[in-house]
Amino acid sequence: MLVAGHIGYTVAAFWEAQKRLDRSFDLRLAGLMGLLPDALDRALYVFAIPDAHKGRNLSHSIVGNLIVPAALIAYRRDLWPYALASLGHLALDGELLSAHQAFWPALGRDLKHIGIERRDPSEREPYLERVWTRFKEVMRTYEEASLPNLLFDAAALHLLAFIALRERLYQPARLRNFLLRGRLEAAA
Ligand SMILES: [Zn+2]
Repeated sequence: MLVAGHIGYTVAAFWEAQKRLDRSFDLRLAGLMGLLPDALDRALYVFAIPDAHKGRNLSHSIVGNLIVPAALIAYRRDLWPYALASLGHLALDGELLSAHQAFWPALGRDLKHIGIERRDPSEREPYLERVWTRFKEVMRTYEEASLPNLLFDAAALHLLAFIALRERLYQPARLRNFLLRGRLEAAA
């Protein structure tokens, strides 16, 4: 799943849940948490670790995925639903993940399962060159995406537009209240 897909489907799920549960969620935070595993793993790949999966490593396993949400819950217990947004990311990436990766280290502790491989030091490029090469690789995500993934992304953008229209975010006061406070109702 691509960027808009992760944000769109996560926000839509929280938007629907808040109507059914009669509780309000910060849809900005839900969208961020839905994208968090890609943001963390791509940063790790670009700056720190050799990752054969090019940005789907530690946070794309259930154990690694829960590290940041656990810190969030420790900070404020009522934030626990947003941990589901981060876990939902794995469900949306499902076709790209093997069981060995998702359930690492339960089905085998080898770091290869989460894409981390030991490289021969003689093959290493200078650090800054390597960062630049990997940065260009992760920025090519859309160029290399399959047609179904692009269609899922387009559908997610439509969903976000639908929610924005339903919530009348075209009204400046409502849009400001949403952007600054994460609230969908008009400011009092
Ligand atoms: Zn991902």
